Amino acid sequence: MRARWLRSAMAVISAVTLGAAPAAAATARAASKTVYFAFDDGPGEWTPELLAAADAYHAQVTLFFVGRSAEKQPEIVARAAAAGHVIGVHTYSHRWLTGMTAAQVRRELVNGRAALQPYASNCWRPPGWATSPAIEQIGRSLGMRQVLRTVGRTSRRPVFIPAGWTDVDKIVSTVQRTVFDGAVVTLHAERSGNRAQVLAFERLLPVLRARGYRFAPVPGCSRPGFRG
Ligand SMILES: [Zn+2]
Repeated sequence: MRARWLRSAMAVISAVTLGAAPAAAATARAASKTVYFAFDDGPGEWTPELLAAADAYHAQVTLFFVGRSAEKQPEIVARAAAAGHVIGVHTYSHRWLTGMTAAQVRRELVNGRAALQPYASNCWRPPGWATSPAIEQIGRSLGMRQVLRTVGRTSRRPVFIPAGWTDVDKIVSTVQRTVFDGAVVTLHAERSGNRAQVLAFERLLPVLRARGYRFAPVPGCSRPGFRG
C-alpha cells in the first residue's frame, strides 16, 4: 500500500519537476481512444483526396482494394502503403464469393492479392461481406485473415455506412452517434463514384480527434511497404 502511494506521489513529483507540459499531457490523454477506419472498394477517383485527408490528421486507415481496380492505378496503391495504411484484399473482381466454387474463390483471393503486391496485407474482406465458414477457411489456407466488423472481443455493434449513402450530414451524424473506442468504422468511397463518404471522412477526423480518438489501421494486419 505504502509503496503504491509512494509510486504515485513520485509520479506526480516527477511530472511536476520534469516540467511535463500541460499540452503534452493533454495530447497523451487525447490519444487514449482508437477508431479503425476501413474503406471498401477502392482504389478510385477519390482515393488521393482520402489519402490527403488522412495525412493531414496523421490518420492511418485500412483500405480494402479491389485487384482489378488496383491494376489500373498501381501508383495509388504504392502511395497508400508508403503512408502506413493497411492495403487489404477485396478480391480481384468484386463478384460475390458465395455463389462460386472453391476453386473460383481461391482464384479471386490469389489474383486479388497478386494485384496488390508487393503491398498486400494478410487481411481481406469479401465483397458485399458475403461469406461462409468454407470461404473463410479458403482464405486461411492462403494465409489470409478475414476481417469484417469487429476487432478483439467487443460485442458492440459495428459502425457501417452502406455504399449507397450519399448524404454527408447523415454519414457524419451516424458515425458520431455510434462510434466507440475500438470501433471499426467502415465507409465506401469508390466504386459507386461516391465522394460523399470521403467528404464525411474529412469532417469526422477533426471532430473525432477533439473527442479524444486516434486513427489506426486494423490491428493484426501486416503493412508491407511501410517503414514507419
Ligand atoms: Zn466491396
